[in-house]
Amino acid sequence: MDTRQIRLGDETPEVAIVNEMEKILQAILNGATGEEIAALPLPATYRAAYVRKEDQTMWEGVPSNEKDPRKSIHIGEVPMPELAADEVVIAVMASSINFNTVWTSIFEPISTFGALARLGKESKWAKRHDTDKHILGSDASGIVLRVGSAVRLWNPGDKITVHCNHVDDQDPSSHSDSMMGSNQRIWGYETNFGGLADVAIVKANQLMPKPAHLTWEESAVNALCNSTSYRMLVSKNGANMKQGDVVLIWGASGGIGSYAVQYVLNGGGIPVGVVSSPEKAAILRQMGCEAIIDRKAANYQFWNEDGTHNEKEWRRLGGDIRTLVGEDPDIVFEHPGRSTFAASMYVVKRGGTVVTCAATSGFMLEFDNRHFWMRLKKLVGSHFANYKEAYEANRLIAKGMIHPVMSQVFTLEQTGEAAYQVHNNMHEGKLAVLCLSPEEGLGVDDHELRAKVADKLTWFRR
Ligand code: NAP
Repeated sequence: MDTRQIRLGDETPEVAIVNEMEKILQAILNGATGEEIAALPLPATYRAAYVRKEDQTMWEGVPSNEKDPRKSIHIGEVPMPELAADEVVIAVMASSINFNTVWTSIFEPISTFGALARLGKESKWAKRHDTDKHILGSDASGIVLRVGSAVRLWNPGDKITVHCNHVDDQDPSSHSDSMMGSNQRIWGYETNFGGLADVAIVKANQLMPKPAHLTWEESAVNALCNSTSYRMLVSKNGANMKQGDVVLIWGASGGIGSYAVQYVLNGGGIPVGVVSSPEKAAILRQMGCEAIIDRKAANYQFWNEDGTHNEKEWRRLGGDIRTLVGEDPDIVFEHPGRSTFAASMYVVKRGGTVVTCAATSGFMLEFDNRHFWMRLKKLVGSHFANYKEAYEANRLIAKGMIHPVMSQVFTLEQTGEAAYQVHNNMHEGKLAVLCLSPEEGLGVDDHELRAKVADKLTWFRR
């Protein structure tokens, strides 16, 4: 049950705090003006999902698949931090689970408390992040409650989504592409005060307008995965896809893969989507992806049991792609890492590009360099997106040209369960989490656009 509801009406000091949160929620639900919202007092504490520093060694020596986020993610009250001049306080209506929520909760590949400690050394304001509770979450939709004294473009009452690129805008290295910033970080993963909470603290340059035709939860699932896929495929910083390109997409019904499929289709490319079940294949068909490989059914064995590579199996994958679309991929959208990387580098076309942003199955990668240099292939490393890229990706969502891929909605109390499902690949698309929003379906302002794209908003719904 929601702790907020249990405590409502009680008169203890702790409950007075909870009631402040409730007043904020009521004001939002009643459509209060920005001035009214700015006048509401902020609570001294707020409800959040976090991991504890004291738990960071709890699973030493335990295999990844036995680590259970339901045991390490806690829900409880945390103190409201002081607001810096370039920051805003937001009321989080909804958030989402990302794979980095899983990494933080299983303390792999490293505990994120190290990142908070390093950040904490940078300045007086950065020191706030170095605490023994790491509040998770790199996505959010909500409403601006307060703005710092240096914030110019946003005001209390603004409906927003948040991208997770946390950069120091006084660092010269951030200024041609902020992902190149020497101390660039991912909010809610390498910083504290993340989005899986009733309140979050973000820099003003993380804000983007909330898509008006979407609910709070539909608006909350996009920014991290959608922006990542945009940079990997569309941006000149990534594979710079062109019309007609064949793009092999691993995990095509997963978080980043399901946005990748949409970008390839929108951009006039030909997606070849890899999934692991007939149900996931059916989702891709609905999205308009015709070339689909079920990797479980195909049972590729890219690695031999003795740890050597099986080049025959790379060729079998390449043959399957040619059977489906008649040619080799111009681009491979790579993120499973160790299990697939050598095959990706092999099947990509002469002169083609493998673009990678991750290594879910292991980050020590191997491939046969002979095929790589002799066929003049390219490898591009990609990580999240700069503000411009994230803003462009959000604009496409707001115009109803790219769609949220939300499959299920959880409460904040169920964050551990949602992360457990992502950790164990039991999900499709994105899992949303309701924070302040008391129920699904709220927050829609543009009903006309919603009606136009209604059939696409349910592609992934269970
Ligand atoms: P996700 O929702 O779990 O989707 C990943 C998909 O990959 C799964 O649906 C699964 O699809 C497929 N997959 C998993 N293991 C595989 C394997 N061994 N071989 C082939 N396919 C496999 O996760 P996500 O949100 O898309 O994120 C994917 C990865 O990218 C994660 O490691 C995440 O941390 C990373 N990421 C990085 C950035 C960045 O900015 N650098 C941003 C977002 C995500 P099937 O089982 O259907 O094949």
